Amino acid sequence: MIRKDIIDLFRVPTDGKVRLKDYNPGWKQSDEFEDFGKEALKERAQQTLAKNLADLAEAQNLLYADDRYSVLIVLQAMDAAGKDGTIKHVMSGVNPQGCQVFSFKKPSAEELDHNFLWRYMKSLPERGRIGIFNRSYYEDVLVVKVHPELIGHNLPREKEKPGKKFWQARYEDINAFERHLVRNGTVILKFFLNVSKDEQKARFLARLDRPEKNWKFSTADLAERGHWDDYMEAYEDALSATSTEWAPWYVVPADYKWVSRAVVADVVTTAIRSLDLRFPEVTEEQKRFLATARAKLAAEA
Ligand code: ATP
Ligand code: MG
Repeated sequence: MIRKDIIDLFRVPTDGKVRLKDYNPGWKQSDEFEDFGKEALKERAQQTLAKNLADLAEAQNLLYADDRYSVLIVLQAMDAAGKDGTIKHVMSGVNPQGCQVFSFKKPSAEELDHNFLWRYMKSLPERGRIGIFNRSYYEDVLVVKVHPELIGHNLPREKEKPGKKFWQARYEDINAFERHLVRNGTVILKFFLNVSKDEQKARFLARLDRPEKNWKFSTADLAERGHWDDYMEAYEDALSATSTEWAPWYVVPADYKWVSRAVVADVVTTAIRSLDLRFPEVTEEQKRFLATARAKLAAEA
């Protein structure tokens, strides 16, 4: 486990305005870390990750057997921040039957014809499962805020560029939606993988320079990078408005993959382990039934 006071550095307070400049995307999160040194810290982080992955596999098994709660993990980030790698590593030890990943791209015409939460609602994890949203309804207050022309057609009232009220209403809808889910047994954990603009550049260059990584690069990525400051502002507004007691945000340092993976795995594992999970109890009647079944089986010729 990572110490709680360290995890708390990344948890977005539920009141006040978030400033992303206050969150360090690198590994030197404190003087203590700096004294410890990068290599020693990396080794420690990898050990913690390995332990957490083993614990997570066990916790997920219990989550499945208990069958009362579900877990929704929301991953948001700029391109190349490592969403895919985080999912792959953090979920590597988990039984695929208990885990569902949904990646949300540009909405279809049918999806745009519904309310903006519709397509996400259909993909929520069932009880006993972990659901991962690789991008989520937060895109509807992020990319859509940066490019308001994406809002879709035929929205009532909005003839001009949507203003403060429009976005405020969406944040309220998101908070109410998440509150509804939490009240019905879903644990919601939201991560913003906070990669720096410099590190994004380095990762894009690697995608361009290394043939086996070329497929990961799209020219749209460069265009979106051009809107970096608008995205940061949209993230700050969204995180400020939607980090709640029932569904907190974590701003995860993402310039070093060993940091982001250790942090995400730790938060997820700790959250599941803190639920009052138990294997279903076997009643006296079921016990008698099991004993009879056992006797029958043992007596087979
Ligand atoms: P990769 O790491 O493979 O690039 P990705 O999540 O960036 O993964 P892409 O197919 O590159 O996947 O991009 C999906 C695109 O869909 C993103 O640009 C995202 O902003 C956009 N998108 C997602 N949800 C919405 C939405 N609700 N409205 C408009 N655009 C959306
Ligand atoms: Mg992309």
